[in-house]
Amino acid sequence: MNTSSSRFSISPIGTVSSPYKEKFAIPRQPGLVTAAKGYIELVSDIDSKSMVEGLEGYSHIWVLFMFHQNLAHGWKAKVKPPRLGGNKKVGVLATRSTFRPNGIGMSVLPVEKVESITLKNNQTQTRIYVSGLDLLDGTPVIDIKPYIPYSDSLESAQAGFAEQAPEAKLSVNFSTEAQAMLQAQQQSESQDLAVLIEQVLAQDPRPAYRQNKPDDNTYGMRLYNYNITWQCSSLTQVQVLNINPVT
Ligand code: SAM
Repeated sequence: MNTSSSRFSISPIGTVSSPYKEKFAIPRQPGLVTAAKGYIELVSDIDSKSMVEGLEGYSHIWVLFMFHQNLAHGWKAKVKPPRLGGNKKVGVLATRSTFRPNGIGMSVLPVEKVESITLKNNQTQTRIYVSGLDLLDGTPVIDIKPYIPYSDSLESAQAGFAEQAPEAKLSVNFSTEAQAMLQAQQQSESQDLAVLIEQVLAQDPRPAYRQNKPDDNTYGMRLYNYNITWQCSSLTQVQVLNINPVT
């Protein structure tokens, strides 16, 4: 059987600006952490202002992107999805694995605002503001399409082993140091940061084999320009220990 393996070259049309500065703690799908706000900035050498005309008429977009931080690691035909406890193997095309033949990801995101401004050098800066991202800061975007409910949302669809949304299973509290740090922020920024931290940690970002058992490790994660350390004080509780600005 001859498989025509013609090669294509794809150039990103934009880049994601996201609170997630590292892969650890990013939720596994969009919409699980609604407080994660960001935008897609389209590249300046295309007529982006014209390209997005009418996009504000849609509530959501499909964002097609590259798992750029994983491209160099290749891919395997069978993978162990975390949903199956990390020990059962299934075909990579039966998963949303981030290690794929062409490294392409796809997320549906709500559009908060579309903004196109003409800069001094007459270039256009177009930003599509989104929320609930599951994307790493700097992720290259290769296409954006409007979400069309009549064809994209299928009542009768089945989802194999990924039927249920992962539930928010941990309750989050903040140490006095962490609360003091939040209070030192602008009211609005500290509120957003506290909600983001809470929603991310409620999803229990630890590897599957560490969950649902006593764990006295201290973990660190990077959100916006803050390093946040935390520990699981019980099977259902997580305590935020410190929130330090990245210097
Ligand atoms: N919704 C997309 C999909 O279904 O194709 C992504 C799902 S994938 C399981 C989500 C994970 O991708 C995140 O938890 C994060 O660890 C990883 N990720 C996000 N952006 C990435 C990037 N630019 N490079 C590599 N991994 C990335």
